[in-house]
Amino acid sequence: NVLSNPHQKLQQSIGDALDRFDPDAASVSSSIKYHAEMTPSFAPEKFELPKAFYATAESVRDMLIVNWNATYKYYEKINVKQAYYLSMEFLQGRALLNSIGNLELSGAYAEALTKLGHKLEDVAKQEPDAALGNGGLGRLASCFLDSLATLNYPAWGYGLRYRYGLFKQLITKDGQEEVAESWLEMGSPWEIVRNDVSYPVKFYGEVISGPDGKKEWVGGEDITVVAYDVPIPGYKTKTTINLRLWSTKVASSEFDLKAYNAGEHAKAYEALKKAEKICYVLYPGDESHEGKTLRLKQQYTLCSASLQDIIAQFERRSGEAINWNNFAEKVAVQMNDTHPTLCIPELIRILMDLKGLSWTEAWNITQRTVAYTNHTVLPEALEKWSLNLLKELLPRHIEIIELIDKELIDTIIYKYGTEDLELLQEKFKEMRILDNIELPSSILELLVKPEESTIITLEADGEISEVEPEGQDSNISDTDKKIKVTFEPDLQLPKLVRMANLCVVSGHAVNGVAEIHSEIVKKEVFNEFYKLWPEKFQNKTNGVTPRRWIRFCNPELSKIITKWIGTEDWVLNTDKLAELRKFADNDKLQSEWKEAKRLAKEIVVSFIKDKTGYVVSPDAMFDIQVKRIHEYKRQLLNILGIVYRYKKMKEMSPEERVLKYVPRVCIFGGKAFATYVQAKRIVKFITDVGATINHDAEIGDLLKVVFVPDYNVSVAEVLIPGSELSQHISTAGMEASGTSNMKFAMNGCLLIGTLDGANVEIREEVGDENFFLFGAEAHEIADLRKERADGKFVPDPRFEEVKAFVRSGVFGANYDELMGSLEGNEGYGRADYFLVGKDFPSYVECQEQVDEAYRDQKKWTKMSILNTAGSFKFSSDRTIHQYAKDIWKIEPVALQ
Ligand code: PLP
Repeated sequence: NVLSNPHQKLQQSIGDALDRFDPDAASVSSSIKYHAEMTPSFAPEKFELPKAFYATAESVRDMLIVNWNATYKYYEKINVKQAYYLSMEFLQGRALLNSIGNLELSGAYAEALTKLGHKLEDVAKQEPDAALGNGGLGRLASCFLDSLATLNYPAWGYGLRYRYGLFKQLITKDGQEEVAESWLEMGSPWEIVRNDVSYPVKFYGEVISGPDGKKEWVGGEDITVVAYDVPIPGYKTKTTINLRLWSTKVASSEFDLKAYNAGEHAKAYEALKKAEKICYVLYPGDESHEGKTLRLKQQYTLCSASLQDIIAQFERRSGEAINWNNFAEKVAVQMNDTHPTLCIPELIRILMDLKGLSWTEAWNITQRTVAYTNHTVLPEALEKWSLNLLKELLPRHIEIIELIDKELIDTIIYKYGTEDLELLQEKFKEMRILDNIELPSSILELLVKPEESTIITLEADGEISEVEPEGQDSNISDTDKKIKVTFEPDLQLPKLVRMANLCVVSGHAVNGVAEIHSEIVKKEVFNEFYKLWPEKFQNKTNGVTPRRWIRFCNPELSKIITKWIGTEDWVLNTDKLAELRKFADNDKLQSEWKEAKRLAKEIVVSFIKDKTGYVVSPDAMFDIQVKRIHEYKRQLLNILGIVYRYKKMKEMSPEERVLKYVPRVCIFGGKAFATYVQAKRIVKFITDVGATINHDAEIGDLLKVVFVPDYNVSVAEVLIPGSELSQHISTAGMEASGTSNMKFAMNGCLLIGTLDGANVEIREEVGDENFFLFGAEAHEIADLRKERADGKFVPDPRFEEVKAFVRSGVFGANYDELMGSLEGNEGYGRADYFLVGKDFPSYVECQEQVDEAYRDQKKWTKMSILNTAGSFKFSSDRTIHQYAKDIWKIEPVALQ
């Protein structure tokens, strides 16, 4: 057989080579050529860049499959406990350079491609980003997969295969415009569809009770999910784990051929479209009922498909002797934020309704299996779903959620007794999963006190009212005089299910993602739960993979680090980075360090030219704020600081100007959520400020403002190595952790920031003197907001000056909505809730210190080296070891 023989031989040689881990350029080249010829998606005559990318990726995938198979075959054989990481987002970025880097085949691939007429870097740039995420949460999930594989932990990632990802951001004169992301347009060479790994998922329908009390969920809308597997290789190990992404479809029998032939084409496709649209986009707009339903369908699809798969694996591995009580000894499920919360009632449903376990058994197994990571303390971001929507879409799950709520109420009563109804009411209000929803009648009966004669009503808003029952109207009979307790929902408010409360009650562990955040979780957000179960609460400070985020994205700096530390082991053991401290003053290291930074800055210069048309000077300081656009992240503080600087520059003579300010390129990037009006105004304002300043000949290279469109992982990989100052300036207490702060520090960038999220720990590690700190602290925020709301806040004149300057129309408009939001004018809602005005003076002064520090390049370079040296704690390898030990109880497994 002409086709299969050479390929089989090749596969064999790849397999053999992998065992030695050194396939040479010649075998790599023949593998690429094989795929170039046999992959039917490109014309045979040419070998241009897109085709070269696909053929190269497919040849890498062959090796990944060999390792993938070996990894899971071994896990099955030894039936080891595995961790399953459920996340609505995985922000994977590009995979080619990362995969060949992890396989240590970069040299062989570069050589092979050169012989075939292409440069590896050019080929790599053909790959579209897999942007199945929004920001930090999704990128964290991807860093975790890299660390899990690298550290040989048995694990899986589970997510959804969104056809269009989030969106592609265009920047026009009107600000941000969203268009569909097209990462799958040419197909992804990394994914492997598993047609035999497919499950049914149901929505709507009804629950029927059998004579034995057994529940069955019947009717409704049925769809099918199919697994698409993406192999995730570890660094310098054969372990290759799986990211399983679900895609939705319907059976072909659902295609209504009769309708189609009758010309009713839309009707014929109806079921198919309904199923397919679940996996179209991440976070579809949820203002409408349809939008909300779609989001809930997405969440349930992820949970149901993943749980069915996990259970099928458990049954297969158990063989004949399935012992469900052993489930939590083999399976750890981590919920990345509350989006996968429905895996709690889904696991219980499967165990009870399909596997015949009792409520007590199912509840117990579920609690031992699942754990929850909290990512936000913003109350408006804690997910709540309408009870009615849940009842309609998932009627069986809502019954189970009611049971869990009842279990929680029992626990609260057990802890606090029934004597003090006011106290009890307070606890219910804070902790119940079901918000504004009747208490179960069995609980109301428990609260009855026989010796009195009153009706006490617990109201949904926490109030308690008492009435003496009178005459005929009373529903307390004369013979049965006692207190009757009722519950009064607030008819003005919706009935809601609080997903975070469900996670905290049902999970055996709850973790925050930085020390300060985990403290806020314990002391504020979930304080009542903390009092009940202190042992559940943990901190797991986030981390980032040093492979992608320094070794591969910053090869020049990596070479220098390896040279000075004397080994490349730091890529696996980042503690070694601390050894750079002893050379921080060394002139030779400093000059090499500066040279690497300069090269990375030059790459940024051409990137900016390419993406925005602006020409910036590599001699200026590169000052970067890239992250989602959100009011709490305070891009507005940054741009107002720039406007203030610009105004002052304009007031000075050219001589004074260059004495006071160092040249800066201020770079912004990030997506605003499509319906977040205020965030989009901020994007527009930044681009308008840039358009004015960048064309001001008097200012020239002393100040440039650039908004880089469509910020994603690949853009981050270009910008971070070339950064000198980066901004992490959220209102204290509002950023859970941040992870880009870690990436910047790792790449020798100095941070300006507030005491928030992981900034606090980064500052501790790199040293106070190597971090530019400003702003109010988390414990002061509540009082400052009150002062603001009470009209007692006296703004700094510089803040008033900058707003007046903006309002004067220098940037083309008066930005009334934006400026008004900082003042709390009528119609702008909360008065400067994010405290931009309060922190503005300390921010401006801190930026002056930055200029001063930058003038002393020896000192600055030392600070830069000390940032890299002090970043060792922020490797996701450290984070993953902690999750494995403290939450999942899994051990590394070396393949044999
Ligand atoms: N978006 C992308 C593409 C990222 O790479 C990162 C993290 O580095 C983030 C968002 C999160 O950024 P931050 O931690 O600053 O919110």
